[in-house]
Amino acid sequence: RHITKVFTVGTDWLGRPKKVLAAVQDMSLVIHQGETVGLVGESGCGKSTFARTVLGLYGKTGGTVLYKGRDTRDLAAGELYRRQVQMIFQDPYSSLDPRMTVEEIISEPLRNYHLCADGRERRKRVAGLLNQVDLRAEAAQRYPHEFSGGQRQRVGIARALALEPECIFCDEPISALDVSVQVQIVNMLRRLQQELGLSYLFIAHDLTMVHHMSRRIGVMYLGRLVELGPGSEVFCRPLHPYTQLLIASVPRPDPADPGAPDAAGEVPSPLELPAGCVFHPRCPYANQRCRTETPVLRQVGADRFAACHQVQGGDAL
Ligand code: SF4
Ligand code: MG
Repeated sequence: RHITKVFTVGTDWLGRPKKVLAAVQDMSLVIHQGETVGLVGESGCGKSTFARTVLGLYGKTGGTVLYKGRDTRDLAAGELYRRQVQMIFQDPYSSLDPRMTVEEIISEPLRNYHLCADGRERRKRVAGLLNQVDLRAEAAQRYPHEFSGGQRQRVGIARALALEPECIFCDEPISALDVSVQVQIVNMLRRLQQELGLSYLFIAHDLTMVHHMSRRIGVMYLGRLVELGPGSEVFCRPLHPYTQLLIASVPRPDPADPGAPDAAGEVPSPLELPAGCVFHPRCPYANQRCRTETPVLRQVGADRFAACHQVQGGDAL
């Protein structure tokens, strides 16, 4: 609820921060048990920062994280949260320690929680986890460099499963992989979701993949949630002008279809945010109010939310 993350960039001679970068601004999002919520937006819009802040990998500037209705600052709730919500990282090359064997990597979370202290028990548990991600038990004694990108990501997923989580934050889990491997990993994530009843926060900049995976989709722009709703509706009937732009820029298989024209300009620097609606310099519908007043995310239809002054009653602009 109301998650905000601000980074300070550089300091002056008194040690005061020169600039602040509002990477995530007042974002609220619910992930229900067993569902996948997709989070999309261009790179640099704060998707990973949001996930890392919610998980506590970055200290948050403001807001509250609730797990099963309890504030995770509460000791017992926080302990449960850290075990039951895990993360899969974008880059399977840098997220696995090259000096550790696969068994050491996968069993690290178990060691951290003093589980499976007995060697035999631990090896059995690791073999079971490898089996869940379709890797052979022999993989346990090998090192990350001996595997392809897709296999490494399977190791990363096995590590995330080690503590039997209920929810996994998947931060662009396939964007570093070859297209043929992407489908395998996505299908495996879906199978694991069904078998284990997992919930996912599925982050990607590829809207088609997010649509394929998610029941609900949130769209981020410059650190803010600008649209949220059921996946098929956001994809087929986007309400926010930025979502319309994102969907219009999905490449089309038909070369005769010109698609939508590009939006004017580029994403502004998060260090120099535009006043009012942060999307106004690129928005074809911007008016005077948009240049001065910041829109908040509000309900605009059944289960649909948008942060735009001009979206009315679930009708697209
Ligand atoms: Fe465009 Fe105004 Fe809506 Fe922002 S608030 S998206 S500038 S119409
Ligand atoms: Mg990212």
